[in-house]
Amino acid sequence: MQGKLLLFCGPSGSGKTTIVHHLLQTNPKIEFSVSATTRPQRANETDGKDYHFISVDEFKKRIANDEFVEWEEVYTDRFYGTLKSEIDKIWNDHKVAIFDVDVEGGLKIKKIFGQMLLAVFVMPPSVEALHQRLKARNSETKESFKARIAKSEHEITYAFRFDKIIINDDLPKALDEAEKLVEEFLK
Ligand code: 5GP
Repeated sequence: MQGKLLLFCGPSGSGKTTIVHHLLQTNPKIEFSVSATTRPQRANETDGKDYHFISVDEFKKRIANDEFVEWEEVYTDRFYGTLKSEIDKIWNDHKVAIFDVDVEGGLKIKKIFGQMLLAVFVMPPSVEALHQRLKARNSETKESFKARIAKSEHEITYAFRFDKIIINDDLPKALDEAEKLVEEFLK
């Protein structure tokens, strides 16, 4: 069984996760592809819902077992990967899979699934806005904050490779735009 897929990429702090959560709440056809990660769980996250939180050893075992569609060491010793089993489960439920992954992982997924996938890049209004959002989230150490900002500036240069770009300078407008793009794609 094969179905359609939706991919939302963008730098950390671009608002892509907020957009993905909004689509999940408003469109019952869509189901989140829960990635595996080795990064520590945040206080507001649920294991198995936001991520499958696993150890580095377990992650490496799963790489060896060929369980990932794609995986990345997004930050040093912080592995993230899309599990084949997630996509199979979602398609078997006759749902549309939605991914929230980094840009490199997203481009790999786009290459694999081609026309079955809508690839959207969420662009922050400015690098300054990214700094502010990331600070407000208060989830990073000084080092990981710096790493995220450096990665974000690099990721923005890949926006043109995506099917659509949403500029998130006004959240309600960005949510509305995302809903319309998805509706059009799933028609
Ligand atoms: P965070 O730690 O903020 O949850 O995520 C850090 C980055 O990893 C984000 O850009 C997020 O989209 C990305 N990410 C989450 N899951 C995956 C995945 O399965 N594969 C890849 N390549 N990146 C992921």
